[in-house]
Amino acid sequence: MIKVNVAEIKRHLTGKKLLQFDVEPSELDIAETELPVEGAIHISGEISNVGDVLLLKARVGAAVNRVCSRCLKEFTAESSADVLEKFYPSGSQGVENDAYVYEADIVDITEPLRESLLLAEPLRALCKEDCLGICPVCGADRNVHPCSCDTSTIDPRLAALKQFIKY
Ligand SMILES: [Zn+2]
Ligand SMILES: [Zn+2]
Repeated sequence: MIKVNVAEIKRHLTGKKLLQFDVEPSELDIAETELPVEGAIHISGEISNVGDVLLLKARVGAAVNRVCSRCLKEFTAESSADVLEKFYPSGSQGVENDAYVYEADIVDITEPLRESLLLAEPLRALCKEDCLGICPVCGADRNVHPCSCDTSTIDPRLAALKQFIKY
């Protein structure tokens, strides 16, 4: 968990605290199975007093191990996300149920950082934008070994028809 003491910045109307630190994935409650982070997670930004609420403006980034959805190669990529969240003092009136609140002078910023980094992860990772993937016929990684297989007849019915036309 990452907790920030905001006692000082609450004393000034425009008080702010700069955030610049590295944490282990476990400190953001991120398990290896959830997001395979390589090394530390970098956090930078600020938390500021904007009157009724505290505003967290930060960037969270990490090197993440991914598997290409086309060629199945493992690779590491930099992932990052911007975070912009308000934190309300507990007991505030008219605050939505899912709003972040804080008690006393301690703000727990774990959840928004964690969620932002997890959401930044693409559902289908690609090792490169134009990855050629694996040949469905011979199984070769077409980025490394371009093959000349005919992949236009993936539909078995079409394949059967072509067979028929040959004779
Ligand atoms: Zn690939
Ligand atoms: Zn092939």
